[in-house]
Amino acid sequence: MVSPPPMLPTEGDVVVVGGGLAGLSAAWYLSAAGRQVTVLEKGARLGGKAGSEDVLDAEGNRAYRSDHGYHLFPEWYLNVKDLMGAIGLDYDAITVPGEKFISSFGTTTQSTTGDKADGGYGSAALWLSFLSSVLQLIVADDDELRPLSVAEFLEKRNGKGDFVAAARLRHESLLLKALANHAESMSALSVARMYRRWVIPASNILKPSWSALRGPLQTYFIDPLEKALLEVGVVIEKGVAVAGLETDADGITALRLSSNDHGDRRLETPGPVVLAIPPDALGLILGGDPPEILSDLIDVSRLRMAVMSAVDVHYSDQVKTPGDHFSIPESQQDLTAYDITRNWDPEELPRTVKDGDRVVRTILQVIATEPDGLELLTDPDVELKDRVLSEVERLDTVPIDRDASVIHVNQDAQLFMNDKGVDGRRPQVNHERAKNLYLAGDYCQSSIDVASMEAAVATGRIAATAVLTGRTVDTAPAVTRGIRIAEKVSRFIPRSWGLLRRVLR
Ligand SMILES: Cc1cc2nc3c(=O)[nH]c(=O)nc-3n(C[C@H](O)[C@H](O)[C@H](O)COP(=O)(O)OP(=O)(O)OC[C@H]3O[C@@H](n4cnc5c(N)ncnc54)[C@H](O)[C@@H]3O)c2cc1C
Repeated sequence: MVSPPPMLPTEGDVVVVGGGLAGLSAAWYLSAAGRQVTVLEKGARLGGKAGSEDVLDAEGNRAYRSDHGYHLFPEWYLNVKDLMGAIGLDYDAITVPGEKFISSFGTTTQSTTGDKADGGYGSAALWLSFLSSVLQLIVADDDELRPLSVAEFLEKRNGKGDFVAAARLRHESLLLKALANHAESMSALSVARMYRRWVIPASNILKPSWSALRGPLQTYFIDPLEKALLEVGVVIEKGVAVAGLETDADGITALRLSSNDHGDRRLETPGPVVLAIPPDALGLILGGDPPEILSDLIDVSRLRMAVMSAVDVHYSDQVKTPGDHFSIPESQQDLTAYDITRNWDPEELPRTVKDGDRVVRTILQVIATEPDGLELLTDPDVELKDRVLSEVERLDTVPIDRDASVIHVNQDAQLFMNDKGVDGRRPQVNHERAKNLYLAGDYCQSSIDVASMEAAVATGRIAATAVLTGRTVDTAPAVTRGIRIAEKVSRFIPRSWGLLRRVLR
């Protein structure tokens, strides 16, 4: 049976291109304000990088939903919680608390350089050095942080000694865990912004610092979000991609659409258009020769891409894994891992039958971050899967089921990692120039500044506000309380830091 052609948006509708979290958040806040919204998503499911893929069993039935990423929710994800609350999801009921502090300590800690993380100092001194440097970052002036990487900032403030090097390794380790990203080149401003937000949960020791969902993200967040959007009248068209844009001096005049089922079409004189697709997808629709009006507004050429691939490592039995997100010791690929199903409700777990009995297996999710995405993309997936599995095999004696292990490489949805000085490069649209063009996505400008679900939802909200009010304002809840606490503590830093270093020398 041939499905009816998609309902094209009519005049005045807001078109949201991309059904990832950024696009869905824009659609929700626009619709809540009474606008008619159409979401065009090129894929067969919503959620983009925040979602799950169906893994089928031998009979072709869904065996389980395999998450495309860890999907950990730090306590400072205030925009995500706001959106969840707005669609009627009870955050505390659908999540399981994780660690109270994202700790970089423990037997599995490994620096990205492979050096020993304790740097020769006892752990209490190291703790103090690390904590002081976190506070230095939190209270530093943005102008000082902006041009520096986190490593350069720490060196500038504290010199190059072993003690500082040890604290730096802790940052590397923490950032590798929190963001699956290298600290060396990461923007000091982005890291400071993230730590400023961490102060909120850290200042309330009864709260966890992050939570995980009780099951696959598609089931627990994206499907309910889709349902809520449909209920308020948002039109969602899946399998429809924007293949090109036509513009004049004022903005977008037409969208060229393509779909496998219904061929190519053109949508003329659209109303506001929210492009909520990643930079590389933007590059594709802009083609090699982007129209002048777009090229200086959306300068995607200067953004550094990274491919993050997730591998579901299936063990044939249950494995005892650390309870938190950990780095794999001596990993050549800087792999980090998390036992994603440890907190899942039993009915969400993969159905695995062995010798006639239902057996519970461990699925360890491993994330590989490849800063040079292109290099990874030219490798066949199977090779990457093998490279990852052979590293993970060293962790445990329980055999891995290589055939059942699943890899997700997000070729067309790379992550934008923050290099130093990057915050000025994050795109934001000048509406004086492009009247009906709005951007959203985890790589766009917002006070979150780190590619994450929180940034995606925040930028969707910002785009919705811009469509509604003509003003680009960050609606993200302020983190003043955390910063005030950090400022108080940091008044003691110059004195205690100097004293501490003298004592340790
Ligand atoms: C392996 C992995 C693990 C992660 N773990 C976490 C985590 O634990 N916590 C966390 O907060 N974040 C995590 N993230 C990051 C988070 O998933 C992303 O930052 C966020 O989902 C990005 O949302 P987005 O809407 O900006 O982009 P996307 O999710 O990329 O959405 C873009 C959408 O646009 C669609 N699209 C693209 N081109 C077109 C076109 N031409 N026409 C129409 N549609 C188009 C795509 O199909 C996609 O659905 C992880 C990411 C990865 C890859």
